[in-house]
Order: sequence, then structure tokens, then C-alpha cells
Amino acid sequence: MAEGRVMPHSLQCGCGKLKGAVEHTERANHAVCYCRDCQAFAHFLGGLDQILDERGGSEVVQISPRYVRFSEGEENLACVRLTPAGLVRWYASCCNTPIGNTMATPEMSFVGLLHSCLDGLGSSLGEVFGPIRCWGNVAGAKGMPKPRQVGVPRAILWLLSTLIVARLDGSYKRTPFFDEAGSLIATPRVLSANEHRALMESVDTA
Ligand SMILES: [Zn+2]
Ligand SMILES: [Zn+2]
Repeated sequence: MAEGRVMPHSLQCGCGKLKGAVEHTERANHAVCYCRDCQAFAHFLGGLDQILDERGGSEVVQISPRYVRFSEGEENLACVRLTPAGLVRWYASCCNTPIGNTMATPEMSFVGLLHSCLDGLGSSLGEVFGPIRCWGNVAGAKGMPKPRQVGVPRAILWLLSTLIVARLDGSYKRTPFFDEAGSLIATPRVLSANEHRALMESVDTA
């Protein structure tokens, strides 16, 4: 390992068909999101206990997509949008492991990788990606009192600087989620209004 260079962290789906790695783990923003849409994504995939914490939080590692690569089983990457304008939520269709969330355009260059494709591989995520520094969208958390919202301004600053740098230096073009023409590599399934309503109801009653 060259000096100053952090080892890539392995990424894989639950069944192991989809494999990849995350580089520059030190540049990530480690966060928990309690929003209802992230919970809905977990409901869409099933296996809630493996995805959400006891308050409905999703542990995510936000990072520039140029540091993410897939090495095997990329054909299993699928995506869904809860609403026509919603985030593009990626998962491994072989075993419904959530992978991460992106915008629908490569110019908005970030991905929030779900812990489910990153853990179970040796070291704790805090050791690899740094401690959790942000707990956001706490109004969506299950139970009372709500967790304290922490670190959101810093996370927004991180996101804006990541987006701007990628835009200025052109590195937004290096992403495994879009092809060279800037199109998503998989066609998102967009939930119908009825499917969306039913999913949000399952979030509210969980
Ligand atoms: Zn799989
Ligand atoms: Zn969320």
C-alpha cells in the first residue's frame, strides 16, 4: 500500500453476485437518514431488519461516485424511483440488497451507499469511513422522542463542495451508474401512484 493511500473497501450484495469496491473511503460522509422515503425503499426491497435500524434509520456512506466501481455481476444492478422525480435508488436484483441512491443525472455527482452492501466484510464502517457525523431527517424517525438532528449543515456543505468540485474538474463523468452519454445504466422502475401510496402506508404502520 502506497503511503497516504487508503485501502479500497469491498462492496457486495448479499448473495455475492454483485461485487465492487469503494476507494478513498476517507472522503466519505458517514450519516444516518430517517426520512420516510429511505424507509420506503427498504419496504420495497423487504428484509427491513437488515436495512433499517430500530428507529427506521438508514446508515449511509455518501461519497463521490467516481470512487465506486463494480467488478462483477453489474448486470444485477437495478433501480427504482418511488415517484417520477424521486432519487434513483439502486439495488442488486439478484437478492434485493440495497446499494445506494443517486440523482437522475451524472452532473449531480454523489451517491449515498447503503451500509447493507458495505458491512459484513471485516471492519466496522466507522473504522473505514470515519464515525457517523450526521443524523438527518429525524422527523421521520420511529417513536418518541425524536433523535436529535446533528450535523446537517456540515453534510450539506460536504455535498455542495463535492458536487461543485466534480463539476469543475469534470470528474462527474466517471461514474458506474451512468454510461458515457450520461444515461442511467439501468432503466428505473417508477412506482405508480397506487404502489407509492401502498408503500408509504406500510412505512407508517411499521
Ligand atoms: Zn445478490
Ligand atoms: Zn432518506
